[in-house]
Amino acid sequence: MYQLYFFFLAFEEIDRIIQSKIVKHGGEYNCADCSFVSRAKHILTNHIESKHIEYGGIMCQFCPKILPTRQALRMHKSRAHKHDIV
Ligand SMILES: [Zn+2]
Ligand SMILES: [Zn+2]
Repeated sequence: MYQLYFFFLAFEEIDRIIQSKIVKHGGEYNCADCSFVSRAKHILTNHIESKHIEYGGIMCQFCPKILPTRQALRMHKSRAHKHDIV
């Protein structure tokens, strides 16, 4: 059976994997792993991070919550920890 492990990649490692899956084609960015296409690089970045990278999640610095992507972490922090962020 498949078992889910939580392990944490360094942000640099996540970025490296994401960059390796971004295919620039004309004015658009294509996902190397599926047919997803976007004109905005950050949308493709978020797509790859949430769909094609299995790293278990990122733990919030302020509470024990684990978020699936850095985008989700940013949203969680801006909602739940507004006052902890300078
Ligand atoms: Zn994809
Ligand atoms: Zn939190």
